[in-house]
Amino acid sequence: MQELFWESQLRFIHDIFPPILIGTAVFLFLFAALFGFSLYRLYWLSRLGKEDFGWVQVWKAVTRPQIGKWSRQLGDIGTRLKTTLGVAFAHIRTLSEAYPGWMHFLIFWGALLLIGGKIVRLFSYTGEITDPPQAIWLYASLISEIGAMFIFIGGGLAIYRRYVLKPPRLDTKPDDTLILGWVFLILITGFMAKGFRIATSEVRPTDWAMWSPLGYAFSHLFLIFPGNLENYVLVWHRAIIHTATALVLAAYVFAGRSRLQHLWLAPINIFLRTLRRPKGALEPIDLEQAEKYGVSKIEDFSWKKLLDLEACVRCGRCQDNCPAWLSGKKLSPKKVIQDLKTHLHETYPTPFAIKPLENRRDMVTEAVTEEVLWDCTTCRACQQACPIYIEHVDKIVDMRRHLVLEESKFPETLQDALKGLGTRGHPWRGTKLTRTDWMKDLGVKTMAEGAGDIEFLYWVGCTAALDERNTKVAVAIAKILQAAGVNFAVLGEEESCCGDPARRSGDEYLFQTLCQRNIEVLKSYNVKKIMTACPHGLNTFRNEYPQFGGNFEVVHHTQVIADLIRQGKLKLDKLDGLAIAYHDSCYLGRYNDIYQEPREILEHTKGVRKVELSRCRERSFCCGAGGGHMWLEEPPDKRVNARRVEEVIQAKVDVVATACPYCLIMFEDALKAKNVEETIKARDISELVIEAAGLKEVPRASQE
Ligand code: SF4
Ligand code: SF4
Repeated sequence: MQELFWESQLRFIHDIFPPILIGTAVFLFLFAALFGFSLYRLYWLSRLGKEDFGWVQVWKAVTRPQIGKWSRQLGDIGTRLKTTLGVAFAHIRTLSEAYPGWMHFLIFWGALLLIGGKIVRLFSYTGEITDPPQAIWLYASLISEIGAMFIFIGGGLAIYRRYVLKPPRLDTKPDDTLILGWVFLILITGFMAKGFRIATSEVRPTDWAMWSPLGYAFSHLFLIFPGNLENYVLVWHRAIIHTATALVLAAYVFAGRSRLQHLWLAPINIFLRTLRRPKGALEPIDLEQAEKYGVSKIEDFSWKKLLDLEACVRCGRCQDNCPAWLSGKKLSPKKVIQDLKTHLHETYPTPFAIKPLENRRDMVTEAVTEEVLWDCTTCRACQQACPIYIEHVDKIVDMRRHLVLEESKFPETLQDALKGLGTRGHPWRGTKLTRTDWMKDLGVKTMAEGAGDIEFLYWVGCTAALDERNTKVAVAIAKILQAAGVNFAVLGEEESCCGDPARRSGDEYLFQTLCQRNIEVLKSYNVKKIMTACPHGLNTFRNEYPQFGGNFEVVHHTQVIADLIRQGKLKLDKLDGLAIAYHDSCYLGRYNDIYQEPREILEHTKGVRKVELSRCRERSFCCGAGGGHMWLEEPPDKRVNARRVEEVIQAKVDVVATACPYCLIMFEDALKAKNVEETIKARDISELVIEAAGLKEVPRASQE
């Protein structure tokens, strides 16, 4: 029986394998040329970006990483490699969603095992294969079959999800159906070929067939052939084996033009992701040198941003995490990327064919639309979810910059707020408060009064100082610091807006003006460390001010409070029976990775039942106020805060704890709108702390 099997293998090696090799060699040139053309097209498209993209630059960046703008995109190779391999092989990010994650894991690892096993067997055929064959030949066979099994299961899950479950985030194009069908065709034809060989050898479950369980199963299909089937089957064998090879080679070409290009574009895009600035920092505009502000046509994007468009696999994870989309607005981050990609391709349909500007759709107002651009709260949930590290926020802000700085087009209510930043130094039009009203009778010192040797400057922020509700938070923080004996001071009337709303809204000019003015004031007092109560201020001071020479150590009030508790300077008692859910602010959590300290403070508060909201930490859901939205009118039925409050209501808590003045306002508004303000309260963490520490009635302590 073994001899019969071996005889069949030899026939395969001598009669069938050489024609395949010759055919492959003949057509390889053609396939390589077609694939090369696809690659060249992508390379050419990437070169359209405003930063040059060429092999010379790549070579220079790799060999001399200390020079040139390319080095900024290629520095820190170790981190880049680690993440790329982590995402590709260990599926970090992809596995954050179980069904699609494991589905992709099975297909990916299945393909690797299948191809790896085939390559080993290929070299066994062309090298010296013995009779009986070497153990490695048999192991390779089994590994290939395990790989194929993975692909069958993963592919089956993909088909069930795409055609039966049909999650709204997936749009099915002919490409998707073709690829799935193709994969199954390749697998089935491959196993039919193997099944034929086993069938003709009359092998039964012996040691040999055990190494090819799937092939053996397929062989049973052909046992229905009548009588002496060998010649008959051999014809089919040849036809099938050539068909399978042709399918594999065609898939190789197809990979250059279809969704399959993510096989190589995804790792490249992950490797080249932006590391040269912190994730909380937008790219600055050189206001003196720039020929235009912002992005109005596709060529204004950098090559990396164009690469992002090509790399997107339409998985829809970004859309599924976008608060704007989930609250019924037009913005879908997936659609923004796809619309820009379509625009790129319709503008440059083939290499060397450029559409004249006058025949193009306007990118900002037609391909994407202004409404979509203003829907974004810059919460970064899309980027956090994207398995291939596509950067949406930069592109959206780039286009807003064009609207604001070049066209003076922005929503009316936002216009008022930005005007206020320029004239009053804060966006709160109509407020009756001054920057120092909240600190009356508290004994808080200002820098101008000569605060002496302070541990840090408390940057109160526009909202905590000028919004009635938030002044209570400003007071609570000051009381906590005083009770713990911390020496701090504020700027008082010298404080201005940090500039975050201006920058996120696209008014880079206003931002840079505010930023430079603030840096001057801070430097004049020789400030080294800043504590903010607002995550937006924290992000801007920490990540964006260094772009303009403002280098300060910046901490958030929850970090300071947690530290005071750890040092034993602040003792918390009970908040009996309260169920509290902490809401992660986007700019504290996703942008600055501060997740633990607010939770640690609640841990130290006895009698509290801590509840996690269904979307928390990295996946937290925006309150709806970032990116200038604090001052944008939203239709009542499409409010992001209303959507978030539904999750709070579902969590059945007494308190939703925040650590951001915007979040506090948004929660209180939404709780009122849902008529639950009597049963669920919104509180800043500092307000819970003064209650638990018994400081509510203590106006001042150590600063007298
Ligand atoms: S930043 Fe937030 S609001 Fe803007 S597209 Fe991404 S997920 Fe949506
Ligand atoms: S941008 Fe990223 S998350 Fe969104 S569809 Fe494309 S690949 Fe998926």
